[in-house]
Amino acid sequence: MAEPIISVDHVSFSYDEGGPMAVRDVSLTVERGSFHAILGQNGSGKSTLAKLINGLYLPTEGHVTVCGMDTQDDEKTWEIRRRAGMVFQNPDNQLVATVVREDVAFGLENIGVPTEEMPARIDKALKDVGMLKFADRAPHLLSGGQKQRVAIAGVLAMAPEAIIFDESTAMLDPQGRREVMQAVKRLNQEQGITVLWITHFMEEAVECDFAHVMYQGQIVLDGTPREIFSDVERIRPYRLDAPPMARLAEQLRAQGMPLKDGILTVEEMAEEVARLCK
Ligand code: ADP
Ligand code: MG
Repeated sequence: MAEPIISVDHVSFSYDEGGPMAVRDVSLTVERGSFHAILGQNGSGKSTLAKLINGLYLPTEGHVTVCGMDTQDDEKTWEIRRRAGMVFQNPDNQLVATVVREDVAFGLENIGVPTEEMPARIDKALKDVGMLKFADRAPHLLSGGQKQRVAIAGVLAMAPEAIIFDESTAMLDPQGRREVMQAVKRLNQEQGITVLWITHFMEEAVECDFAHVMYQGQIVLDGTPREIFSDVERIRPYRLDAPPMARLAEQLRAQGMPLKDGILTVEEMAEEVARLCK
């Protein structure tokens, strides 16, 4: 089997020596090209885990490897952050320049990309997220979804193999959330970029190949979204909502509509309702 792109091996982490563990004995592997979600209520350890993966924090116990490099190896820190880029919640905190193009250039300057190579890399990254036509605009005049796509372009320009999104749609309106999700799905499907998608929106979780549920610093469930959400009772202790369509299906069944099991998406609901109405 090929080496996984991200491997977290029995990792624990505490913010204060001797203090409580924010992440407890977590193990997970992410294969190249896959799209994983990390779910869990506030304070369950998702952001801490994300920062452990990208080398912003080092494990108190255990090991994290990214593309075969251990995050504890000081010499690899920058290479790890370039190969596994991160996009955060608030796009305003990630955009630094006064022109979109310069914002995307910022990271490239930091890693020493030759000046003559920059325009092509910047244009490609902006094009990949559908923002090329805004290259000469001021970032602060863009919508939330557009700003977040510029932030993604900034990471993309560094040619990462994986991108970790830490609740990157949490501050966006529904339109912005859809824009960002669609752009990220395209990067995954067309360019094979590995995605780790942290979210508390269950309608986003159903779009992933594989999901991990965190609760009190631990991973308590792993599986496909279908496996995880097939039994609402099983996720209830971890304070996760079922995806909106699964909840609607449950309510309709309670009203006597004989809907099949396992409805997670709008498309599946539409199909099933159409079938019953025939
Ligand atoms: P999530 O992203 O799932 O909301 P976090 O990883 O941010 O969870 O937090 C996990 C735990 O670590 C929580 O108990 C939180 O209070 C604690 N924590 C997070 N950041 C810090 C910090 N900088 N210093 C101390 N404790 C922290
Ligand atoms: Mg968080």
